[in-house]
Amino acid sequence: MTMPFPLPPFVPSKPNQSRVDVDPDKQRRFLQQNGLRLLWERAALCPCGVRGTALLATGPLRSDLLASDTPGDAQTHDPDCPTCFGEGVIYYASEEIRALALGMQINYQPQGMIGDYAPGYAAITTFPEHQPNYRDRFTVLDTQILYQDVKIRTAETVEALRFPVAARTLRLASGDVSARTLYAIKTGLDWRVPSSGAVMQEGVDFTVTPAGLISWALGDDLGTAPVEGARYSISYFSNPRFVVVDPGFPRSSRTIKKQATDTPKQLAIRSIARALWLGEGVA
Ligand SMILES: [Zn+2]
Repeated sequence: MTMPFPLPPFVPSKPNQSRVDVDPDKQRRFLQQNGLRLLWERAALCPCGVRGTALLATGPLRSDLLASDTPGDAQTHDPDCPTCFGEGVIYYASEEIRALALGMQINYQPQGMIGDYAPGYAAITTFPEHQPNYRDRFTVLDTQILYQDVKIRTAETVEALRFPVAARTLRLASGDVSARTLYAIKTGLDWRVPSSGAVMQEGVDFTVTPAGLISWALGDDLGTAPVEGARYSISYFSNPRFVVVDPGFPRSSRTIKKQATDTPKQLAIRSIARALWLGEGVA
C-alpha cells in the first residue's frame, strides 16, 4: 500500500492546544530587572569607494578599465572617507537600552597562526523591538574591563586612546577607589625605555578628561610626558564593546492569555556579538 502524499497533519480537537505559551510579559519584566545598561549603535554601510582609474597612469590597462561597464572600480573603501574613515561602516543612531549580556569573554590567543588575536564573544538578549543587525555595536555601560594600548605621542596635548577611559569603582580595604588607569610607561624619542623615570602616574604626569581622553598638560609642564614621536604604553579601564556578528531572528510564542483565541506574541531576541579588544578602537 502506498501512503498518500502530502501527509495530512494531525489537528487536535481544541485549536488552543497548539500554543507554546512562553509568557512574553514575564520575559520583558525579567529583562528590565536583570538587564545591564548597554549603548546600542546601529550600523549602516558606507557607499564610499576608490575609483581604480584615478590611481592608474595612462596605458592599456587604464584604457581597458575605462572601456569596461564599471570603469576601474576598486572594491575597497576610501581611506580618506570623512564618514567611515575607511572602515566601511557608519554608526548613524545610538540609544541606551536594557539587555542581557551573558558569557562575555575575550579569549585572547597569543602567538596564533596569524599573530595575536582575540575571538571573544557575548550573547546579547534584547527586547523584541531592539532587533540588532550585522555590524551593530554594543557597549556594556555597567561593566569596565582593562585595555592595553601602545601609542605614539602626537603634538596634541589631549589625545584619544583606542577607547574612552572609564572609571571603575574598586572596593579596597582602605575604602572605595575610583580607578581609571593602572599603569603608564614611556620611551624616549629613540623608542627605548629609559632605565629610570619611565613610569608615569595619573594625576602627576597626565590626567583623564571627563570625555575619557588623556591630557598631557601636567607632564608637558613638568617635562615628564612622552615627547612628540616617542611611544607610550597605558593600561586603562573602559567599557567592553561588541560587534554583532550573528543577529538573532525575531521569535514568537503563541499565547491565549486573556484572549479568546491564541495569537503570536514577540519574544526577546538573542544575538551573538564579537568582542572588540585587540585592533582598531572607536576613537
Ligand atoms: Zn566611507
